[in-house]
Amino acid sequence: MDSTLASSSAAGHSDTTSGGSESVVRQKRELVTELPGPKSRELAARRAAAVAGGVGSVIPVYAARAGGGVVVDVDGNSLIDLGSGIAVTTVGNADPGVAAAVAQQAALYTHTCFTVTPYEPYVEVCELLNRITPGDFEKRTALFNSGAEAVENAVKIARRATGRDTVVVFENAYHGRTNLTMAMTAKNVPYKDGFGPFAGEVHRAPMSYPFRDPEGMTGAQAADRAIRQIEAEVGAHNVACLVIEPIQGEGGFVVPAPGFLGALAEYCRDRGIVFIADEIQSGFARTGDLFACEFEGVVPDLITTAKGIAGGMPLSAVTGRAELMDAVPPGGLGGTYAGNPVACVAALAAHARVEDDGLVAAARRIGETLLTRLTELAKTCPQLGDVRGRGGMVAVEIVRPGTTDPDPVETARISAACHAAGVITLTCGTFGNVLRLLPPLVIDDGLLAEGLDVLAVAISGQRTA
Ligand SMILES: *Cc1c(COP(=O)(O)O)cnc(C)c1O
Repeated sequence: MDSTLASSSAAGHSDTTSGGSESVVRQKRELVTELPGPKSRELAARRAAAVAGGVGSVIPVYAARAGGGVVVDVDGNSLIDLGSGIAVTTVGNADPGVAAAVAQQAALYTHTCFTVTPYEPYVEVCELLNRITPGDFEKRTALFNSGAEAVENAVKIARRATGRDTVVVFENAYHGRTNLTMAMTAKNVPYKDGFGPFAGEVHRAPMSYPFRDPEGMTGAQAADRAIRQIEAEVGAHNVACLVIEPIQGEGGFVVPAPGFLGALAEYCRDRGIVFIADEIQSGFARTGDLFACEFEGVVPDLITTAKGIAGGMPLSAVTGRAELMDAVPPGGLGGTYAGNPVACVAALAAHARVEDDGLVAAARRIGETLLTRLTELAKTCPQLGDVRGRGGMVAVEIVRPGTTDPDPVETARISAACHAAGVITLTCGTFGNVLRLLPPLVIDDGLLAEGLDVLAVAISGQRTA
């Protein structure tokens, strides 16, 4: 049986009609119809009659296949992917190793439920995460399906371990769309509007946001501002956990001033507060370190991961100090699909790709390319108020020239111009005025350069009066 599986997965690599998509998806931008093309428009009509209106899409082209850094639509248009399905396909889309692992596992068993009859791939992913996440202490991991579910469970664990209620989160934070994580998320429209009442005992503290903070404010000063507010309005003895994205994602790729995260981690350590890094967007080599916390040597008590974990398969995790994780008695954590075996083997294959292809180093190179090019552009394009980020997680904040006033209209214009030219870009930010770039870390240099050329034309092409 083993040899059958081995040969079928080997065939997957060479057979251009299945598996190894990199061999068939040409790494090239090419538009053969208007966007969206006729087949996408047909699907859009069916969708309008079938799919709930509350589910949005950034670009109305329907995917037919994807590989590496290219998405091919149903009309045969090839788009450069600078979004990775929101930081998910870090190892490239339809990575051959991930695809083969998924096919092989799906043929063995697709589900038994880990809380019914457990299986090795789940254990192996936990071992992997315990090994690669920051911190030399003994760790445990629990697996879930989505990022929001990981955040919810991290909070459950922290509350159970501390016997305290309050969750501290930050301005611009994004932690998900479930009830508790909506309460933790900062932005009202579209994430929260009309969806209340929200979970209680969530307290929002001021974030370090160098572009918008008083000139010269250090990370230590910003942390002090947050801590004074937490002390005055909550009291450390009531705080179960502090949850923070080391680089904020949906909230605008906000990179806190150096020292901010470290000062908060130290405060948490002193006061018995569980410090939780939400690395759902920033994890798995995305920022040029395996985890964004590592850049400043910050070690969280718990870390939540998802998005880039499994090459596109749904999986998430909470990893952290054994004594915290094990504070929950057996049966307290779980879920029907949590840690699905097909997703687990995908995670193992995706991590092998990160290591074999040196994707941490690749992210650093991509970061240099992005920051250099965008900083250069900002010199001649006054609406680029701030260029920031690390590795494959870089953004420009768009403002009215000469001010820090957000310009979401100009941001949408630039993004739409990129889409029309066949480059997938995403926006974000509490004020909707941040254009973010999250290319797959396997993207080839030429494709990335071409994507940036298109972006440069989009930015400088026309400016709102
Ligand atoms: C995307 C995201 C989440 C939510 O993940 P889902 O899988 O969409 O539930 C939580 N936190 C951060 C930082 C994210 O970027």
